[in-house]
Formats: sequence, structure tokens, C-alpha cells
Amino acid sequence: MSEPNPEFKAYGSSRMQWLEDWRNEFDSATDAHDATTHRRSIDHTGWYLDNTQYETTCGVVLRTAKPCAACGGSGATGVALDDTCEACDGEGRTFTYAAAIKDPWNTHAALVDREDTYTDIDECARHADRLAEQYAEKAREDDAKQLAESEVEAAIAEIQETRRAHTRLVGAVIKYRDGSMDNAGCTRERADLRKRVRKLAKRIKALRENCWAAVES
Ligand SMILES: [Zn+2]
Repeated sequence: MSEPNPEFKAYGSSRMQWLEDWRNEFDSATDAHDATTHRRSIDHTGWYLDNTQYETTCGVVLRTAKPCAACGGSGATGVALDDTCEACDGEGRTFTYAAAIKDPWNTHAALVDREDTYTDIDECARHADRLAEQYAEKAREDDAKQLAESEVEAAIAEIQETRRAHTRLVGAVIKYRDGSMDNAGCTRERADLRKRVRKLAKRIKALRENCWAAVES
């Protein structure tokens, strides 16, 4: 077994941990909206990770089976010593649950919250859903930042190109001062180019101040 991944603070928990394979520790993983026993208590199947609403993630409930202390059941293997036992599932198992966030690209990976374990599956499912909500919010913000950065880069390149075009026009005016070229047209075009640069600069400023401008446009 490799070293466990370090815990970190995120999504309202101080003990988040990345699991490459939850099966090393838990016996099942159920999506939060399927795990809840109250119909419609989680009325969606996930949260969007990006601003184009393409990918989602959802909360997930990880289950651990333990031997039942009351009837002396065998736990994970589920052998019933007393099928009338009310302390367990009748097969010698009691369950605890951990809230986690699903990795949409990897079935057996999950981001688990180590801060609490639950005996109430609904409580765990609700917490998992809140974790996934916060995870998705952060992912959408990162997505907006990336969109803003690439738009700024493109705008800077366009400003440079526009300035070069402006310089070429200035040269042309000097060269054809004798009137062989339409100076008025040239002046108009130069004014348009300067206007374009101002507009791009304004857009860059807006994107740098607020990355969500890249999403809203
Ligand atoms: Zn029992």
C-alpha cells in the first residue's frame, strides 16, 4: 500500500483527502441523490463544473460495514448469527458513512471529507451534496479565470496587430503626401484603428477586474 494522500482544507472542511480507489477502505459508493431515503430531498443529479454546462459532479456516500457488536455478526462478509437482531441489518453488519465528491472521470476515485462519519445516510448524502456544490462553484470560477486569461491574450495580440496596421498607415500618409493617396480616407481608417485599440484595452481591463466578464459575454 502506498502512503495515504495528505489531507487539505477545502469546501468547508479542514480534512479533505483524495482517494485514488475508495474500494481500499469502503465497501460501496452511492451517488448522493440515489443514497437518500427521502424522495426529492436532493432534487438534482449533479452540479456543473464549467460555464458551458457540459460536465457535472455530484456528492457520493461511501459506506463502511462493521461487525455488529450486539449479535456478534461478522461484518463485511455479512454472515447472520441472529437474523432478528435490531442493532444491525440482520446480516451481522452495521454501517457508517463518509461524505465525498465524485471524480467524474474516474469511477473509483473520490474526494472524501474526513471530518465526520455518519450513521444517518440521509445526513451524509446532504453533506456530500453540499461538498459537491462548493467543489463545482470553485471549478466554474477556475473555468471563468481561464476563459478570461485566454481572451486577454487574444486581445493583446489584436492590439499589437492593430498598432502595426496604424503604423503602416502613418507611413503611407507621409509617403503619398503629394496627394496620390486619399489622405482623408487614411485618416479615417487610422481613427478607426485607434478606436479599436481603446475598445480592446477597455475589454482587457474589464476581464482583469472580473473574470466572470468572460462568461457573461
Ligand atoms: Zn446485529
